[in-house]
Amino acid sequence: MRFDALAESRQRHYKSVEETGKRSELFGKNVFNEEKMRQFLTSEAMEKVESAIFQGTKIDRKIADQVAEGMKAWALSMGATHYTHWFQPLTGSTAEKHDAFFDIMADGRAMEKFGGRQLVQQEPDASSFPSGGIRNTFEARGYTAWDPTSPAFIYKTTLCIPTIFVAYTGEALDNKAPLLRALHAVDEAATAVAQYFDKNVRKVYATLGWEQEYFLLDKALGQSRLDLVMAGRTLVGSRAPKGQQLDDHYFGVIPNRALGFMSDLEKECTKLGIPVKTRHNEVAPNQFELAPVHEEANLSVDHNLLLMDVMEEMADRHGFMVLFHEKPFAGVNGSGKHNNWSLATDTGVNLLSPGTTPMKNLQFLTFFVNTIKAVDTYEELLRSSIASASNDYRLGGNEAPPSILSIFIGKQLTDVLDELEGVSKGKLSPQEKTELKLNVVGKIPEILLDNTDRNRTSPFAFTGNKFEMRGVGAKTNCAKPMTILNTIVAKQLTDFKKEVDALINKKNLKKDEAVFNVLREYIKTSKRIRFDGDGYGKEWQEEAKRRKLSNNQNTPEAVQILTDKTSITLFKDMDVMSEVELKAHQEVELETYILQLQIEGRVLGEMVYNYIIPAAIRYQNELLDNIKGLKEVYGAAHKKVAETQLNILEQVGNHITDIRKMTEEMTTARKRANSLSTIGRKAQAYCTNVKPYFESIREQSDMLEKLIADDLWPFAKYSELLFTK
Ligand code: ADP
Ligand code: MG
Repeated sequence: MRFDALAESRQRHYKSVEETGKRSELFGKNVFNEEKMRQFLTSEAMEKVESAIFQGTKIDRKIADQVAEGMKAWALSMGATHYTHWFQPLTGSTAEKHDAFFDIMADGRAMEKFGGRQLVQQEPDASSFPSGGIRNTFEARGYTAWDPTSPAFIYKTTLCIPTIFVAYTGEALDNKAPLLRALHAVDEAATAVAQYFDKNVRKVYATLGWEQEYFLLDKALGQSRLDLVMAGRTLVGSRAPKGQQLDDHYFGVIPNRALGFMSDLEKECTKLGIPVKTRHNEVAPNQFELAPVHEEANLSVDHNLLLMDVMEEMADRHGFMVLFHEKPFAGVNGSGKHNNWSLATDTGVNLLSPGTTPMKNLQFLTFFVNTIKAVDTYEELLRSSIASASNDYRLGGNEAPPSILSIFIGKQLTDVLDELEGVSKGKLSPQEKTELKLNVVGKIPEILLDNTDRNRTSPFAFTGNKFEMRGVGAKTNCAKPMTILNTIVAKQLTDFKKEVDALINKKNLKKDEAVFNVLREYIKTSKRIRFDGDGYGKEWQEEAKRRKLSNNQNTPEAVQILTDKTSITLFKDMDVMSEVELKAHQEVELETYILQLQIEGRVLGEMVYNYIIPAAIRYQNELLDNIKGLKEVYGAAHKKVAETQLNILEQVGNHITDIRKMTEEMTTARKRANSLSTIGRKAQAYCTNVKPYFESIREQSDMLEKLIADDLWPFAKYSELLFTK
């Protein structure tokens, strides 16, 4: 397979990139957006949908029928033949079941049908989606329900309707429902706080701009490897002589074939309303990044999921295999997905952007300090939101943020917070107020953006007008970190509002005095979360321990916090998830973790017995034939002549023995883990007793790869995978 794949990859040539006009003219072509609604909906329906989007009001059946009618007319005019509820089960990706518009009437006539009922709710037979025990299979009822805040779109010939997926009892079986609840919570809490500064604010949106990293491999080469096909990463593979040490790929000229893929991908995305903007080479060879303009978080999450689907499709068309795994290759960087996050008002203000007046800067500081405080209080919970079997291979490596959460804010803002720590308790003298306004708050540079210092090792960094969460894995559904981040900020802002109101009402403080007083305490009590040193260093591990920050290195440990009392209370108070849902989501995380490691273990076993050992034996035979021949000619003197052959023969033999032994031990450990009764213990056993074998088996395989004749080695090598452009 390897040599067929190599031959195939050599045949490939790129098509020259063709742009067919301005991207802005393509934008949203396949989306049922405002412009299309105006065209295809009655003004009554249009009004109701808009109020559902902006105020969260309900849409009744009559209106749903009208919307469905308009949507159908539009979809048919675009050549669509099917529709689907598009949802995000806890598997992490998206799911769809297509139904044709086509239907047969009672009188036998065929026609295209789609009504309010089909738009609003569907009941996919979804008993095989993970539910963490929420839904017993014998009452396997769950339904999908229309999310009007994310517009329907046409992909290929199917009208896709974004939906949530919930059990009949109302519990979320997906990632979108909790996210919508978290966004609602942060809207309520942040709007109330924003109104201290501007009475006109009616709504606050969380904004998200992700940066998707990925690898592009030649399709034939990628598909020739069992591990890449089954596990999405290489389980064995000796490093190529050249990796990323020359830094010659990063930001370099984009190779032609990749550029052709990107161009087609971007055009498709643009039509789907995904505002893709930036493309570039990443650090590792054959690694790239794509980033859009930021959007409202729910829409942005949907767009990221859709993007990943479109990427798979487009990669296939261009003869590529795309990898989203967080650590597909040893020895070169893995892939992440930075989540840039902020809060914006319906009046168009970015709440994490310093402004031109002291009042606007106080507003900025309020949201800035509250975010820091929220992350400090719930650092372990936020860490749990990015835990997965695949991201475990990347986090904490010296290319990715550590599994310890900390915040970097840069020198200028650190100085501002230090000053604010000195604000007097209670009422402020007129002099102090003036001093604060002019020299502390007033001095926050208007365009911090351009002159903030950067710390690439920080997992949660302030970058001028937003926070950037850097530990998110390339494969992860952003809904998970976004749900937790927005929930903790919502909770923090709620507490803040209570404290400020209490100072105003009971202590007779002025609003700004009260705000300064509360912020001062937050700054003092959340200091441990701020860190501007090297996050990759050993010293930080020790320092973090002294600061009592959590350091959960693997998924089974990291997700425990989800069902901690503090988390249950938090999610209940914020109306985001019930205890049942938290338990279920935790169980699904653990189950997925186990299954992924189980698959890796099985694939590795197959590779060892069916490919690696046979290849090693073939080489042994070649050596043996040669040694036998030399012995015939040279007699006893052959030992000298065949010294190299004998030496390699012995090494190969030893590696065969070792790799077999380790593989057997791994299988035994796996069986033992499988027999454990609770899912938590099983996951832990996979982590501590099974996973370490992957590494040691790999070492043996990699040594064999280095010894064995190239024409006998069964798997595409790193040099072929990473340097075929
Ligand atoms: P850098 O990470 O190098 O600072 P940019 O400042 O251009 O690069 O932003 C990177 C990402 O941040 C982009 O994907 C963009 O969508 C996102 N972003 C910018 N502003 C915001 C914001 N207010 N909210 C959320 N994301 C944002
Ligand atoms: Mg960035």
